[in-house]
Amino acid sequence: MGYINMEFKPKTIGVLTSGGDAPGMNAALRAVTRAAISNDIKVKAIYRGYKGLIDGEVKPFTTQDVSGIIQRGGTIIKSARCPEFTTKEGRQQAYETIQCEEIDALIVIGGDGSFTGGRLFAQEYNIPVVGIPGTIDNDLWGTDATIGYDTALNTIMHCVDTLRDTATSHERVFLVEVMGRDAGFLTLNAAIAAGAEAAIIPERATIIEQIEEAIGQGKRKSKNSSIVLVQEHAIEGGAQAVAKMMEETHPEFSTRVTILGHLQRGGSPSASDRILASRMGIAAVQALIEDQRNIMVGLQDDEIVYVPLSKAIKQKKDINADKWAAMQILSI
Ligand code: ADP
Repeated sequence: MGYINMEFKPKTIGVLTSGGDAPGMNAALRAVTRAAISNDIKVKAIYRGYKGLIDGEVKPFTTQDVSGIIQRGGTIIKSARCPEFTTKEGRQQAYETIQCEEIDALIVIGGDGSFTGGRLFAQEYNIPVVGIPGTIDNDLWGTDATIGYDTALNTIMHCVDTLRDTATSHERVFLVEVMGRDAGFLTLNAAIAAGAEAAIIPERATIIEQIEEAIGQGKRKSKNSSIVLVQEHAIEGGAQAVAKMMEETHPEFSTRVTILGHLQRGGSPSASDRILASRMGIAAVQALIEDQRNIMVGLQDDEIVYVPLSKAIKQKKDINADKWAAMQILSI
């Protein structure tokens, strides 16, 4: 990855996992630790995200500390949401830990919010920060995939497969609520993979139009049951709100709501997520050795790329038009 300026090579890297946990975060932590140590860089794990940075919950890591974790979901160094880090005082305290622990670069494994905080921190205290995208939502610009997305997608698909057994036994519309914050990637892709009748996502049309479309298609093919995936924030109140609207406008349909909730975050990471996390962990350390800062490691066309954090956070990635079209074609 180009010219290596040894002068700036960090002596100690701090690594943390922050925000919503995602399967594959452990695999990324393992890769960061082993890549750093193999480059004679010390690693300090910071527990509970930015909270641990503020509280000084830091532990030097050896290669053994990351043994046997590649297959484990969640994150062994814990994650947390930390409102204090959004304040100047909180970040000042965090910087005191950085100084005290002699950490000279930070790797943040997390999502949009974690990168927003990391970027601010990097600017205020002139500390190199590199982000590794760990979120099931796949909502970061500049990367085709985020760690945890593929696993969550498979989990949702299996849940919908299971639900279909019941759905086909009754004449009902099953509304399945799927996570994703502002993004419909999980919902749309899971809907295609599970052969759902429709996907209701925030990126497309109005909710009423999408419901009409879903029901209309169900009628056209005179199926006796249908499964509709609803992105949690496509409408305020999620799948429950969609059910209410359907009961009011189409009382002839009996609707049932299933909220998959935190089931979607768990489980052993898929092969694809483990490989992605391993590559990204190594690339994050490489980036710091090259004195890159304020960037996120991304994947584009199966190649590792570095994306400015500012772009990764601010720019919105749209859903794939072909996939949206596929959904419509296949649900007739
Ligand atoms: P994710 O990283 O999964 O998007 P969150 O949005 O919960 O998760 O963000 C994780 C943490 O990042 C927050 O608890 C907070 O400590 C930090 N953070 C988020 N937004 C900001 C911000 N605007 N300024 C500073 N820190 C932030």
